[in-house]
Amino acid sequence: TKRVYSFKEGNAEMKGLLGGKGANLAEMTRLGLPVPNGFTISTEACMDYLNNGRQFTDELKEEIEAYLKQLEEESGKAFNSKENMMLLSVRSGSKFSMPGMMDTVLNLGLNDENVKHLAEITEDETFAYDCYRRLLQMFGDVVYGIDTSHFENFLEFYKRKHRVQLDSDLTAEQLKEIVHEYKRIYLEIKKQEFPQDPKEQLFAAVIAVFSSWNNERAKVYRKLHNIADDLGTAVNIQLMVFGNSGNQSGTGVAFTRNPSTGENKLFGEYLINAQGEDVVAGIRTPSPISELKESMPEIYQEFLEMGELLEKHYGDMQDIEFTIENQKLYLLQTRNGKRTAHAAFKIAVDLVEEGLKTKEGAILSLDPQSVNQLLHPVFVEEALKTADKISSVGLPASPGSATGKICFDAGTAKEWSDRGEKVILVRQETSPEDIGGMVVSEAIVTSRGGMTSHAAVVARGMGTCCVAGCSELEIDEFLKIVKYPNGELHEGDVISVDGTNGDLYVGEVELTLSEKNEDFETIMAWSKEFSRLAIRMNAETKSDIKTGIAFDASGIGLVRTEHMFFAPERLIEMRRFIISQKSEERTKALETILAYQIDDFKEIFSTIEGKSTVIRLLDPPLHEFVPSKQQDVERVATEMGISYEFLNGRINELHEINPMLGHRGCRLAVTYPELYIMQAEAIIRSAIALKNENGLDVAPEIMIPLVGMDGELRLLKEKIEAHIEQIIATEKATVSYTVGTMIELPRACLIADDLAKEADFFSFGTNDLTQMTFGFSRDDAAKYINQYVAGGILPVDPFQTLDVSGVGELIRIAVEKTRQTKPNMKIGVCGELGGDPLSIEFFDQLGLDYVSCSPYRVPVAYLAAAQSAI
Ligand code: ADP
Ligand code: MG
Ligand code: MG
Repeated sequence: TKRVYSFKEGNAEMKGLLGGKGANLAEMTRLGLPVPNGFTISTEACMDYLNNGRQFTDELKEEIEAYLKQLEEESGKAFNSKENMMLLSVRSGSKFSMPGMMDTVLNLGLNDENVKHLAEITEDETFAYDCYRRLLQMFGDVVYGIDTSHFENFLEFYKRKHRVQLDSDLTAEQLKEIVHEYKRIYLEIKKQEFPQDPKEQLFAAVIAVFSSWNNERAKVYRKLHNIADDLGTAVNIQLMVFGNSGNQSGTGVAFTRNPSTGENKLFGEYLINAQGEDVVAGIRTPSPISELKESMPEIYQEFLEMGELLEKHYGDMQDIEFTIENQKLYLLQTRNGKRTAHAAFKIAVDLVEEGLKTKEGAILSLDPQSVNQLLHPVFVEEALKTADKISSVGLPASPGSATGKICFDAGTAKEWSDRGEKVILVRQETSPEDIGGMVVSEAIVTSRGGMTSHAAVVARGMGTCCVAGCSELEIDEFLKIVKYPNGELHEGDVISVDGTNGDLYVGEVELTLSEKNEDFETIMAWSKEFSRLAIRMNAETKSDIKTGIAFDASGIGLVRTEHMFFAPERLIEMRRFIISQKSEERTKALETILAYQIDDFKEIFSTIEGKSTVIRLLDPPLHEFVPSKQQDVERVATEMGISYEFLNGRINELHEINPMLGHRGCRLAVTYPELYIMQAEAIIRSAIALKNENGLDVAPEIMIPLVGMDGELRLLKEKIEAHIEQIIATEKATVSYTVGTMIELPRACLIADDLAKEADFFSFGTNDLTQMTFGFSRDDAAKYINQYVAGGILPVDPFQTLDVSGVGELIRIAVEKTRQTKPNMKIGVCGELGGDPLSIEFFDQLGLDYVSCSPYRVPVAYLAAAQSAI
């Protein structure tokens, strides 16, 4: 099989085989853009290598050599040549971009001898030795695993000793000394010389890139982003171009649009006389790309046009790496740029308006979860006026606002967050090793590095707020102190971070939810056009219902009535009902509750303006309504005018070993039918009242929970309907209503055809159904579920994303059986999974009528439903 492809042989479709970087280098080559020539070793070759005892086969070696020869012929260069020396970059690149996860070796091919020739050819000794010291450092790190700090610490020390400010100010003689020391580091740490043969360097580098697929950082990143472990990485081998060859050269990174705001304007940074990662590493402060327009107007113009061409070609905002060598522009990488949720929505809408994308394409380009970031909190304006602002202002690297405790290292951040603290990671700069701590932080603050620094890029990707490059902060990660012009802060001190404008505050600043924006509205409108599923909300309070209405929820999928029983004046009546053994007292208690419930339902129905509303009758076991601590029992006994012993005795009778499998849901009503009858009466009376008072038509959907047998449903439905009919008759009213059931027991799924004979509608209660199917108590399972997920026993937490093969299969069976009895019965989903994008796709494909989720997830659900329908 073919394992190597020249850039001329590949194209953008071949990301699986050539990795994203390789496929796009090939595509840019095909488009005639100035890409240094090269070839790509496939991801298959990488997996072969890793799976077959790490054998670097002769076949692969020969194939690489053939392509190397071709590269030499086409470029007129050769390894070790005294006239036209070939130097290479060796770059990793997997199917999905994994920024900074696997490393690059530049200037490969140099050695002690030929570095002198390079100096002669270029008449620039400084340049030649600068390349060599970089090669030694990168090769040492990537191939020999010598920690870069060994090289960097020496470089820092050397510069300080010789009072050199910038790397680019080092003289040739100084660089030679550094090279000398670097080689000594090889001997000291690795006990091995730097290999002098370019080919040996090359093969070692290829093997190192292959192996890097399985390094810890890469594994953590893949886990975090759900990337499969068996994809492998490709290796790109490419002619070097030199941004470090003087003041007519440089290197940079730019986005075709602003990745923070989405504004359609070139956004990026560059450094003159620099190479490779200098820009991102925060070694010198880079210049904004707009300055290139002044200093090299022709290059700027050329770059602008190439950016536009690439955007048009890919139909999306591009993140482009470039290098300028003696006033000639080269493109080294392009990919769809990572962006904030804010920018993603704006760019998606703009691209449709500019004719570069379809509406469908725009919808598919967005991550439904990112909607949450759009609805991120912002600081309350009033609170900001009195907030204690740290005078330093940093770069607004990733929007959002957060407060939390300062941590100076990833380990502490992780530890504190695990014990429930909100933390803010404050560092000079971040590196891939910090990922674990960045993920758990509310915000990230750095004192060095720009808008494209590691911290900025990763934070934007995760939707975490970030302020980068706060140059006035003096961060001492060792002493755990950060000094700012008017004071200092220590580990554990609270700060507030505004990633939208780059401000920092001492202490906590109050947060509120951010304003919605136009692009978000546009995407929502389009999503509703495409979505087949209706989206309802789970809500019972006025403010939650209003939130859901603002997001255009089509109704309420779940009103949990038990919440209405906990207000003190109601709780006492509920307790009277539960505890008392005198029938008049119980009836009286229920009558009082009835009056309250009528008001409750009137408020709900009028707030939702008569849209479809499912009301679930009382679900939890009765013991939840009685006190458990002795002193509370004593107090309640006094309140109710009964003896402590009597109350305690009743409470003990209510006690159950497994309350979640106990006397709850419809089982309560089989014992105490008057409970559900009272609730049904309240629902119908409130509907009648609204009709009479406001002319509002309400058609309540009354839902009986936890049904497992058709007999339960038949019994309760008959009683409820008989009572309702009687009320309607006496009141001479016309109210339409339906009575349905929640499907949340495995048995209910299996007899759904029988239940469908009785029910007017179904709604899957995914929380209980998951709990009952797995036999996991959802209140206690978190401990071991995390372990199951980490160990690969479960792919995901089934309470967050539907377990398709188990719970999903039960749902599928239930739907199929239901349709046998009643082909058009209304079926919905309520519970956490109703707002989870992957689960929504499954529900949509089953042809359900709606999903219902918490109000803030309604937009997420619309977008996910639209994506599923497209
Ligand atoms: P990453 O995947 O971390 O972005 P890259 O393979 O893109 O790593 O390499 C990092 C940087 O190295 C590039 O942005 C570019 O500046 C530099 N680089 C890579 N290849 C070359 C090359 N052929 N010539 C000059 N610089 C290069
Ligand atoms: Mg790159
Ligand atoms: Mg339930």
